[in-house]
Amino acid sequence: MRIPFLSAIAVLATAGSLSAQQTRAERTDYAETSTHSDVLAFVDSLQRLGAGIRVGRLGLSPLGKTLPYVIASRPLVDAPARAARSGKPVVYLQGNIHGGEVEGKEALLMLLRDLTLGPLRPLLDSMVLVVVPIYNADGNDGFGPEARNRPAQKGPASIGLRSNGQGLDLNRDYLKQEAPETRAAASLLNAWDPDIFVDLHTTNGSYHGYVLTYEAGLNPNSNPANDYIRDTFLPEIRTRMRTRHKQEVFSYGNFRSADSLEQGWETYDARPRFGTNWIGLRGRMAILSEAYSHADFRTRVSATYNYVLEILRLAAAERATIKSVNLAASRYRPDSVSLRSAFAPPTPMDVIAELTERANEGSGPVARRRQTGVFRTIRMPVYGRFQSVRQEAFPAAYLFGPQHAEVAALLRAQGIEVRRMTAAWSAPTEVFQLDSVVPEPLFEGHRTTRVEGKWGPGNASLPAGWFLVLTDQPLGLLAATLLEPASEDGMVTWNFFDRNLRRGQPAPVLRVRTVPAFPSENLP
Ligand SMILES: [Zn+2]
Repeated sequence: MRIPFLSAIAVLATAGSLSAQQTRAERTDYAETSTHSDVLAFVDSLQRLGAGIRVGRLGLSPLGKTLPYVIASRPLVDAPARAARSGKPVVYLQGNIHGGEVEGKEALLMLLRDLTLGPLRPLLDSMVLVVVPIYNADGNDGFGPEARNRPAQKGPASIGLRSNGQGLDLNRDYLKQEAPETRAAASLLNAWDPDIFVDLHTTNGSYHGYVLTYEAGLNPNSNPANDYIRDTFLPEIRTRMRTRHKQEVFSYGNFRSADSLEQGWETYDARPRFGTNWIGLRGRMAILSEAYSHADFRTRVSATYNYVLEILRLAAAERATIKSVNLAASRYRPDSVSLRSAFAPPTPMDVIAELTERANEGSGPVARRRQTGVFRTIRMPVYGRFQSVRQEAFPAAYLFGPQHAEVAALLRAQGIEVRRMTAAWSAPTEVFQLDSVVPEPLFEGHRTTRVEGKWGPGNASLPAGWFLVLTDQPLGLLAATLLEPASEDGMVTWNFFDRNLRRGQPAPVLRVRTVPAFPSENLP
């Protein structure tokens, strides 16, 4: 079978009069990728050429690099409140969260040029763009040989590191928010409330026949926004990539077994520590884009450019639908909250695979396999969705004591409204009795905690000063996921309550089924 992506060297839209305005990747014929200072200089030069953008500072990386963000729209909307009043969708585009995965950064710079000074300008009439081209600047500039930093990737020869300057994987940090990049981005996202969030990556795994794979939010706590992007928007983008760009794309995944492809194709993880799952849980539209690491750098940039361009075109055309679906998601209140997830039963689908052979130096990960150049379309089970395997009724509110001020602070950093009781109160509550408290293997510097137990009736007499989180708020479902003790990815998981977890004792978070009628104040 013909290799699908080799026939698809797309003609990128370029501004003829601005041929001097090229990214490092373009200037070097895709031998090199932009450094952090290249990105700052490129954005500066767009401004000097009259691009009409606003450039802001997201924050500083751990190693002291300025993280730029760019606002682009026609007319220029320079503040979140004006963007909200405009009625136009806000689209957030993020490149380079994993420092060695560089085509998102390159494609975003090219798109910024073509959208502000080139032929794509009319698109900016219909939306407000918030672009973070180099989210992990420390990782990007941790240049080293590709054979060491990303051995399964096909160029460029010198490439950065996955983690940020603290050694954190930024795409596991969205809940705990330990990295300055995450806290800065959360603050930007809370302010601008993007309708669509796009996170640009490069794959690490299987040999398949797609130039790019993609995914919506995977958490089974779904909502109208997540359903729309997954079931309506992304399938249409797939069609447009094929018809307009001759590039095949498919749902993100890896083969369950490289030796036995028929076993199926599976996606990654439902937990909201991952950015697009976190955004999905927030009731907004999230798109994970993964350019194919085994395609060459030029092809990966082309695919990412085209994919983002088609997202923008469809967002412009469907802007009224997008705004109304997101409004419905903000008002959506489920009956229950899912705490644990597992793959839903698979759907049989055709998946394009490249056949590989075991390399001589033994078995193991995909990088040790030899490509054959032979592609096959194989019908196989696709594990592309998660279902809930444990859920709880959606309560009216959660309560926890004033000694957990850092929990309150983190909830607020996530955009969740937290109140404080201003008077003593006693009433029936629900209490989570802990049957087990288990530390898990070390991950991202944590021994994450997993508890088992169940809710039962109780009575509480609480002094003034306790924190109260009502679930009847736009981020109520996210709040429940974070505060339920048995959640697979919540405050208990990330050690915020470790000192107060004892087997046989109640967990330090209480729950009520009706909104308590006692005085409380919103934290400023
Ligand atoms: Zn990645």
